[in-house]
Amino acid sequence: MGSTASARNGTWRNWGGTVSARPAREVAPASVDELAAAVRRAAADGLPVKAVGAGHSFTSIAATDGVLIRPHLLTGIRDIDRVAGTVTVEAGTPLKRLNVALAREGLSLTNMGDIMEQTVAGATSTGTHGTGRDSASVAAQIRGLELVTADGSVLTCSEKENPDVFAAARIGLGALGIVTAITFAVEPVFLLTAREEPMPFERVCADFDQLHAENEHFEFYWFPHTGNTNTKRNNRSAGPQRPVPGLKGWFEDEFLSNGVFRAVNWVGRAAPATIPAIARISSRALSARTYTDIPYKVFTSPRRVRFVEMEYAVPRAALVETLRELKAMVDRSPLRVSFPVEVRTAPADDITLSTASGRDSAYIAVHMFKGTPYQGYFTAAERIFTAHEGRPHWGKIHTRDADHLSRAYPRFEEFTALRDRLDPERRFHNDYLRRVLGA
Ligand SMILES: Cc1cc2nc3c(=O)[nH]c(=O)nc-3n(C[C@H](O)[C@H](O)[C@H](O)COP(=O)(O)OP(=O)(O)OC[C@H]3O[C@@H](n4cnc5c(N)ncnc54)[C@H](O)[C@@H]3O)c2cc1C
Repeated sequence: MGSTASARNGTWRNWGGTVSARPAREVAPASVDELAAAVRRAAADGLPVKAVGAGHSFTSIAATDGVLIRPHLLTGIRDIDRVAGTVTVEAGTPLKRLNVALAREGLSLTNMGDIMEQTVAGATSTGTHGTGRDSASVAAQIRGLELVTADGSVLTCSEKENPDVFAAARIGLGALGIVTAITFAVEPVFLLTAREEPMPFERVCADFDQLHAENEHFEFYWFPHTGNTNTKRNNRSAGPQRPVPGLKGWFEDEFLSNGVFRAVNWVGRAAPATIPAIARISSRALSARTYTDIPYKVFTSPRRVRFVEMEYAVPRAALVETLRELKAMVDRSPLRVSFPVEVRTAPADDITLSTASGRDSAYIAVHMFKGTPYQGYFTAAERIFTAHEGRPHWGKIHTRDADHLSRAYPRFEEFTALRDRLDPERRFHNDYLRRVLGA
């Protein structure tokens, strides 16, 4: 079904196991015409409609009790325009398939997130991002969009055509229509050299501005209950290509980062008191390494250990203070956290409801192993993030509502006015959108 979310006995579940839904019916359109017909039929039956991607959002943003549109027959590359430097793909195409196909054509996206299981429409609809000094989220690389709106008509937009729709629909939260195709900017495939290196928490905090300024893509993981981090710097390189050797890559990326990490989390879940000691060992398990490869092989890695996640974007200038407060909170609390905290950045962009809309941003992501109570940790973290004008990732756990978000986003009303115009009857509504956008 082209989705790592599961569907059993008519119940749809997301990857993190935090959301389930029982849609009235499921449709897998194989063309834009079939999709438009499904939207019209839902309207005639008075049912809401929701397209899902790979179910990798932790929030209920993709859940519906109406008509669930599956992505797996709307996949593949429609067109590559080498002169314009763009590729147009069907909305249900998994990022992995896009990346592999582009590499075969000698092309690449400029930046991407940690994994590539998501569909292109699913990833962009919630603002999926990686880390970058100059390059922003996956949605910021969009040059054109095609969507089916609530009346079943097809609407296209770009910077020049329907620019008001383009500004909002690149991160549309599934609220403005069903995306059927996306045109991305691409560039000739290039090489990135990754340097992964442990670094004390205090040093990363002290040197953060410099590390950010000197590297095209800087990120780090802080291990709660320790003063240790693992940093990663990716910069363009003239080569030669030097991937992580096969056996070493398997040992570090599969055995240590997934197999051993899963076992460690099992132990931590059963005996939380062991977590600080385990954290001290695991934060030292990965040693420094350098490798050079094509972008998607450097940016993304397998994430097989299931978890739940909250992530907030704060103004980049507030990162160090926010992170120090988070560490102080964990240090003085009885919380036991076995998953590292991930820190990334993005430059300001011009997308209405992007977490980086109009401001240089830093992302702080907190995780908990699936099946471990996360509410206490996430509530305390969220209090810190919102005190620093944080904006929550639309696809990751948070408790904010339209009242709060209308103050966090200067262009919030621009988005809701467009939704009023494109979807006056709220065909694409669900409980999550009611909470974050209002009725
Ligand atoms: C292991 C893991 C790693 C992750 N890593 C990152 C990361 O590095 N960076 C980051 O920012 N996020 C990350 N995420 C979050 C994830 O990228 C987002 O939640 C993303 O939206 C999931 O995409 P999906 O294809 O699974 O879409 P879903 O979660 O299925 O849907 C997301 C939204 O897109 C909408 N949608 C889907 N298809 C369409 C369509 N055709 N038209 C209109 N709306 C549509 C849905 O209705 C829903 O609103 C990660 C999640 C997991 C589980």
